[in-house]
Amino acid sequence: MYNHLLCSFGGQAKEQYSIMPTPESILKTTFGYDTFKPLQREIIDNVMARRDTLVIMPTGGGKSLTYQVPALLFDGLTVVVSPLIALMKDQVEQLRALGVPAVFLNSSLSPEEYQANMDSVKSGQSKLLYVAPETLLTPRIYALLSSLKLDLLAIDEAHCISEWGHDFRPEYRQLVDVRRKFPSAVCMALTATATPRVRADIESTLGFTHKNEFLASFNRENLFIEVTPKQDATAQTLKFLENFKDQSGIIYCFSRKQVDELAATLARYKYSVRPYHAGLDDGERRRNQEAFIRDDAQIIVATIAFGMGINKPNVRFVIHFDLPKSIESYYQEIGRAGRDGLPSHCLLLYSYGDASKLRYFIDQKEEPERSASYQHLDAMTRYAESSMCRRKSLLSYFGENYSQENCGTCDNCGAEPGAQTDITIPAQKFLSCVKRSGEKFGAAHIVDILLGSENEKIQKYNHQSLSTYGIGKELSKSQWMHISRQLIERGLLNQEPAYRVLSVTNKGLDMLKSREQVFGQINEAKRTARLKSAAAEEAEYDTSLFALLRTKRKELADSAGVPPYVIFSDKTLVQMATYFPQTKEGLLNMSGMGRVKYEKYGEGFLSIIKEYGKDRKVEEKYKAPMRDKEDAGGRSTAVGNAYNAGESIEALTARYGVATDTILNHLSRFVMAGNTLHSTEALLSLSGLSPSQQQKVFAAFDELGAEMLKPIHEKLNAALNYDELKILRLCYLCNKK
Ligand code: ADP
Ligand code: ZN
Repeated sequence: MYNHLLCSFGGQAKEQYSIMPTPESILKTTFGYDTFKPLQREIIDNVMARRDTLVIMPTGGGKSLTYQVPALLFDGLTVVVSPLIALMKDQVEQLRALGVPAVFLNSSLSPEEYQANMDSVKSGQSKLLYVAPETLLTPRIYALLSSLKLDLLAIDEAHCISEWGHDFRPEYRQLVDVRRKFPSAVCMALTATATPRVRADIESTLGFTHKNEFLASFNRENLFIEVTPKQDATAQTLKFLENFKDQSGIIYCFSRKQVDELAATLARYKYSVRPYHAGLDDGERRRNQEAFIRDDAQIIVATIAFGMGINKPNVRFVIHFDLPKSIESYYQEIGRAGRDGLPSHCLLLYSYGDASKLRYFIDQKEEPERSASYQHLDAMTRYAESSMCRRKSLLSYFGENYSQENCGTCDNCGAEPGAQTDITIPAQKFLSCVKRSGEKFGAAHIVDILLGSENEKIQKYNHQSLSTYGIGKELSKSQWMHISRQLIERGLLNQEPAYRVLSVTNKGLDMLKSREQVFGQINEAKRTARLKSAAAEEAEYDTSLFALLRTKRKELADSAGVPPYVIFSDKTLVQMATYFPQTKEGLLNMSGMGRVKYEKYGEGFLSIIKEYGKDRKVEEKYKAPMRDKEDAGGRSTAVGNAYNAGESIEALTARYGVATDTILNHLSRFVMAGNTLHSTEALLSLSGLSPSQQQKVFAAFDELGAEMLKPIHEKLNAALNYDELKILRLCYLCNKK
């Protein structure tokens, strides 16, 4: 099955990088991204200056790129040490899909495959070699590496080197020897473990200096973080899932039994779901994991044993069905959501009972582990019960200061301010309807009575004769359901677990008698509406087109024997379903669309988009380069300011070592961010058009707006290329201000 990993890429690699590659050009041409994520560029510069570098970034922060880009810039070989065979294979598949020559060596290969991969490294065809630490220590590999130029040694999951980390591996300690044997190679250590102790340990073991440490923020902006009191956890989960039809997610449970039960329940509700825990045999576990990774199963219900070695970027939600035992594990588990940067939802169902259950287990432990576990659990419960911004609590736990007042994407910051209003009257109506119908029914039927429905069940029980029949027409069904949940939460109603039959509690009776006021919400805050961290435009992508593109992706992935995300990330598809690119240029503008991927798959996707657009008359939309949320904006601001200070476009391309087009993109971003360019003469001089032609283009912008270039292009009878139009648009926008 690894045969596809053996073919030659040598010629292609040379051709692709023959024109003086820069980090930016590799980012765009190979990976298809417009801008670096925070710190990536600085790390790459540091490595290229051959300084040993420690990289600490949260999951999804983009660590891999920080050694993959240097690997393509160096002449020699890059060795990546990784502890997990599954991850190695995954990374190599992703690189090869991008046209980057990479191989791995580990015990999963047959002797022939192993030899073929050795040969491809030896001949210099492969730029990257992934190995397990124990493999790297064998004489055979030593000999191989000694015969080559080794430029970079990247140690992934570097916390495995530290006894203070959560995953110490003795063989990692021996990497120190390896490093000594190859003194001319620059060394990188990468980890998502943020604790200062582990960091210091890695540095002292490998002999790194502190100033070459790059610590990224651990804030994961795209995660919506929510903690909710756990009542009927299964019902709450089912309700949650209604908003995530067809979307991948992980549900963590405390016990194997709970995993099996919940997986069975979800399957009964027709969800495509697989269990994962240590009680299943290896084969079944592997198959279930594979089904999830390949989008054959939507949901995985797992104990904490699931997740290491999972690189799936499109996990849209993580539910903690039970309370995690520490903030560290909680953070790590929610971190598996949204690696691709798209909005994702993390829900923790919290109950005091869960905390007691965990305490009981901790009691069985010996000191000093027991005290440590108590401390971890305490921190976890304090977090769950806190009304402080979830982001702020989490980040401060990891020693990072989060200064924003309101993060807008956690339950406590109340993205939707869930205004509390007087719901006394609806509450009274609901409670008395429960009482009058004999406390024998679930919420849905009570709501039917209140709304005056004429369905069979109403007829059967003669409920149209109740005094509460039809007295609640002022509210909708979903508003009533929301009210019923609040009454349960406040202890005014009791819900019997098996059939969810409602009854009025003593507290509820008191409330009815005393006519006490009740406050709550009429409307439920919409989960989807809360996910506002995505660029608003991309949040409104065309879901039918997305579904078509996804089907296509799945076909291609299955026939290549790789997970769908190796072909394209969800983000790439979301952008296609937002901007409807109709041309090669348009498609190449999508995040994650590198040159090789375009060549392999571009046409197929273009024809789907065109076909779809034809029937519905949708048109290509302009995608501003800054739409990539990763853009830190720093570079664009610098370029804009330098331009305004009189630096020529030529000088700027030389200074940053990028193409004119990149400088133009920076300038557009600068302008889009609300700045202006003081003089557009230098820009206009790049245009090959006569002043009168330019005027025509400006007139077209006046008439049709500057949002989209396609209409302008057509209006001018396709006589001008898009580069021209881009330059003129920039001038136009600045002169209008
Ligand atoms: P980590 O190893 O830190 O968890 P990855 O290296 O797997 O993170 O990157 C997470 C995701 O972000 C991947 O899908 C990757 O392709 C994407 N990514 C990395 N760098 C960029 C960038 N500069 N722009 C857009 N996406 C990026
Ligand atoms: Zn918040």
